Amino acid sequence: MADHGIGLEDVFRARARLSGRIAETPTVASPTLTERCGAPVFLKLETRQTTGSFKLRGATNALLALPHSALAKGVAAASTGNHGRALAFAAAQAGVRCVVCMSALVPANKVEGIRALGAEIRIVGRSQDDAQEEVDRLVREEGFATVPPFDDAGVIAGQGTLGLEIVEAVPDVDLVLVPLSGGGLIGGVALAVKALRPQARVVGVSMERGAAMHASLTAGKPVLVEELETLADSLGGGIGLANRHTFRLAASLLDGVVLLTEAEIAAGIRHAYTREQEIVEGAGAVGIAALLAGKIPEKIGLRGPTVALLSGRNIDMDLHRRIVCGDATGETACPA
Ligand SMILES: *Cc1c(COP(=O)(O)O)cnc(C)c1O
Repeated sequence: MADHGIGLEDVFRARARLSGRIAETPTVASPTLTERCGAPVFLKLETRQTTGSFKLRGATNALLALPHSALAKGVAAASTGNHGRALAFAAAQAGVRCVVCMSALVPANKVEGIRALGAEIRIVGRSQDDAQEEVDRLVREEGFATVPPFDDAGVIAGQGTLGLEIVEAVPDVDLVLVPLSGGGLIGGVALAVKALRPQARVVGVSMERGAAMHASLTAGKPVLVEELETLADSLGGGIGLANRHTFRLAASLLDGVVLLTEAEIAAGIRHAYTREQEIVEGAGAVGIAALLAGKIPEKIGLRGPTVALLSGRNIDMDLHRRIVCGDATGETACPA
């Protein structure tokens, strides 16, 4: 396998570090999807992770890998969602001061969710870039450490522990479907799965609206894409033009990328709730959605045990109710 600067031994080291600090989540069979797909389908329920997403694995591993001296002033990050929540939790557990920088556009409920975990909130500017500038300043001028959301060796190794759990739960796994944004999740998972089971295939799933890694893989280098509103909001954002790890990992380890419409993502959320009894956010439902839409590329095919990784559950419950009732825009009849 090509040298990525991150290896299976880093993933095992992450697992040892994370032991007792994160939940090992269940992998369950899906009889309905198995019947529909003609191959055994399993769901990796990372929706059950503490803080509601897998981001806790990478954030905790990267934070604990930092030398004690680097954390004296605290840790800072820009995030509107699951990474900020995970880092706030990991920092509180480690007794480290945490500052999360967010733009004025972030909804109040998300701000409160992160504040409730004990992190300090700084509202800066009107965009993620503005918030990131404040993080850069805290690092440069005030001696803060930072943990990036995906393009970091410790973060990738932490997410890779999910790959170990998947192969342990389904030793003959043939195909893993992984939500794809910046690529920290799929980079770590693909690294671990393919090291343990080289014949397994790993496919990324993104939304059609603003799939930065897909556009970058097509272009052969990191490119910018316009960020658009999507039900898979946790998959929004770019991969960084100065990407260090995840673009190379994705380019060498992925067997394909599937892109989904908003209606297909909504169908995935609805299926998870009505048939699997799971509450899943848009980003977490894309693996199910790709199977329901019949979008696994023919050259990959469903040939054996298939695992859809359900990456998170942090969805606005009002939106969830409207989607489950059949209309993501809330126009159809839904009991009040
Ligand atoms: C961050 C996130 C992703 C994407 O992870 P990347 O490492 O950026 O590819 C997928 N699902 C959920 C729920 C997330 O929070």
